[in-house]
Amino acid sequence: MADSFDEECDYLFKAVLIGDSGVGKSNLLSRFAKGEFRLDSKPTIGVEFAYRNIRVGDKLIKAQIWDTAGQERFRAITSSYYRGALGGLLVYDITRRATYENVKKWLRELRQFGSSDMVVVLVGNKSDLGNSREVSEEEGKTLAEVEGLCFMETSALQNLNVEEAFLHMITNIHEITSQKSL
Ligand code: GDP
Repeated sequence: MADSFDEECDYLFKAVLIGDSGVGKSNLLSRFAKGEFRLDSKPTIGVEFAYRNIRVGDKLIKAQIWDTAGQERFRAITSSYYRGALGGLLVYDITRRATYENVKKWLRELRQFGSSDMVVVLVGNKSDLGNSREVSEEEGKTLAEVEGLCFMETSALQNLNVEEAFLHMITNIHEITSQKSL
């Protein structure tokens, strides 16, 4: 897989970041996009997004990843945030149990407004803060299994599993989309 901005892309995907405020969404996105990305700030509507081009086999995919830019704090996320999204990273903070308990609420919203076969990866972020852990890795896995999601623990701070979480989502979206177009 390689990144590029100059070539024509074969597919454009929209994916969203979702989860409680302060779980690390913006840092995950900037980690993933670091070096090879363009972060477009849209202060008027309060949504930010980044692009990253990824090669999967012989196809070039442009992933457009949206970040809430703090709107979740004011419960101001509208259905347009989710519209057309084929994937999502649903993030909680392993050191704040309440953020894990809110996962189901975010999932309902994702399923209500997103595509029905959306690829969702449940992400337990801040894995570097093991000493303050309030949610075990096992609990993350179990919830993901029950809800039919993929699961990963990440650290945006230490750059652990960040690339893997995004790429997992993007390659799965690609698989689903290319099967549909057969
Ligand atoms: P958002 O509100 O979900 O976008 O969260 P931010 O990305 O703004 O991060 C919230 C806070 O958590 C900031 O103080 C970050 O520095 C911190 N943070 C984000 N990711 C990590 C991580 O993986 N480990 C640690 N220790 N702190 C993190």
